[in-house]
Amino acid sequence: MSLDLNKDIIEEIRSRSDIVDVISSFGVQLKRSGGASFKGLCPFHQEKTPSFHVDSARQSYHCFGCGKGGDVFRFFMERENVDFINAAQILAARCGVIIPEKEYNPQQRARQSEQERLLAVNAEFSKFFCRVLAENPNCAGAQYLRNRGISADVIQKFKIGMAPDGWTASLDYGRSLGFSEHELLTAGIIRKKEDTGRLYDQFRNRVTFTIENEQGRPVGFSARSLEAKPADGRKYVNTPDTPVFHKGRLLYALPQARQGIGRMKKAVLCEGQLDAIAFHRAGLECAVAPLGTAFTPDQARVIRRYSNNIVLAFDADSAGQKAVLRAAEILLPLSIDLKVLQIPGGKDPDELYSKQGAEALSEVLNNAVPWLDIMLDVCREKFVLDSPTGRAEAVAYVANFLKLVENQVELEVYLEKVAAMFEVSSGAVKSALDKAVAMAIRPRMTTPAEPPAAAIPETSRMEVRRDPARVAIIVLLEIAMASIDNARKIAEALEDIELEERDPVVKALNVVINCALNNEMEMVDSCLHDLLIEHPSPEISKLMVKTSEFSSVDRAVDDAVAELRRVRNCSRREELICKLRETADEQERLNLLMEISKLSITGE
Ligand SMILES: [Zn+2]
Repeated sequence: MSLDLNKDIIEEIRSRSDIVDVISSFGVQLKRSGGASFKGLCPFHQEKTPSFHVDSARQSYHCFGCGKGGDVFRFFMERENVDFINAAQILAARCGVIIPEKEYNPQQRARQSEQERLLAVNAEFSKFFCRVLAENPNCAGAQYLRNRGISADVIQKFKIGMAPDGWTASLDYGRSLGFSEHELLTAGIIRKKEDTGRLYDQFRNRVTFTIENEQGRPVGFSARSLEAKPADGRKYVNTPDTPVFHKGRLLYALPQARQGIGRMKKAVLCEGQLDAIAFHRAGLECAVAPLGTAFTPDQARVIRRYSNNIVLAFDADSAGQKAVLRAAEILLPLSIDLKVLQIPGGKDPDELYSKQGAEALSEVLNNAVPWLDIMLDVCREKFVLDSPTGRAEAVAYVANFLKLVENQVELEVYLEKVAAMFEVSSGAVKSALDKAVAMAIRPRMTTPAEPPAAAIPETSRMEVRRDPARVAIIVLLEIAMASIDNARKIAEALEDIELEERDPVVKALNVVINCALNNEMEMVDSCLHDLLIEHPSPEISKLMVKTSEFSSVDRAVDDAVAELRRVRNCSRREELICKLRETADEQERLNLLMEISKLSITGE
């Protein structure tokens, strides 16, 4: 069974749930601040003066402090830690809309039923492995878990089991339940030997950790070898990617941590499953872990739906430090308050809990340090900080991380902090940051071209440092949202410019332009709300609670388009210069040079 959440139903729920009512029902006191706008203290971050805005006409909210924003669905998802489907169900019930059940066409039904079959395979095998463990209290797996002090409750809560020792135990069991070889292969329970075609079990004589999706349904396994030096050299064997198991998108222990994250207002990201389990055993039920691979942007987006405060609990060794830096690169652009756990003596969370108990773990969690603080340690290793050159290098290095921070308020704080940390002026940090931003836009430019000041659209001082193309798009989006004529004018002006379509602000601009071209400007708000549910973006939600204030629309459009054209020409030029370096043919070189000289990089 599946619900038919079509556009009409979503629209009906949205229009029947008044956003001011819903937000007020969560104890947020909203005061009218003129017209349709309301203001209050943000429920998502600590503040003393209200920066949380709600626009009842557009049914939108946006916090100018932490950047959260969207519609009533988004609010509910953020506030209640639920996914879109759950938010829709609860809101529908509140406002009396009945969501019909979906009718599938045969293909969809086939795909749906394949997924259901794979989920059934995983559910059965999760139970099977748990049973094998329970029925063999003296097996190596049971001993291993006992040695680690993992109790029966924890084993049950995390559905930990044991894969039998043998080549076809799972295959035989799966067949006995009526699953086909194809289904067992697709689910990653068994494998096929390439040369002989022989089928054999994927997991053999290993402790199995059931991996569940966000809804808490088993979708795969991570199986740990019981030997110190496994014969195949693999300490962990995971389910391969399947239609229901995408390693880069899943987070271990998320279903168990969901409520805890909401309660504790933070999520802990561990390196391994046992570390995550250690936190839960200590009563700190907010820990999750990626699945044996590096943390991915997809996983970052999942965890951000649950909390903006993330603590990294990675090993203290140099590999762990690299993992922290890599995670920071992924998490900082998402406006996440990032901290790093520091365990004295370089222990991992599991070891600390086993040796010193729950309180010790809780204490290190409370003492987690802001990510910027560990940069000082990182830089101490990398650079000679008692020389001015070394400090300048360190500041340049840290600026590469600062450039990822979107939130302006945060950024100001960081600038000051870095200046104090390396005993340099905040102006020096700022100029290092500007350089880092410029390098990011034109990473391989041979002849860097500074943007002429006039081409930069009228935006705030801080925003000028950002990716200039992106700033230009945000300006165009704001203008396009204001009227159908504006949107059409912009559509025309952008005809020969290709934009990076993965960026939510570009998506938003396309949405508005499409509405204008179809004469459906009244659809803009709900289309943008749909977009925000998938891609939360402070830049977009901000525009949905404020009115556009451009003194001269035409000039702003011209400047922004010129800027986009300049950026496009710069990258085209860079491409041509690369080609020029590679070619020896005189005629072709001449043609390339001609083309390069024609490319204006001033945007005219
Ligand atoms: Zn806020």
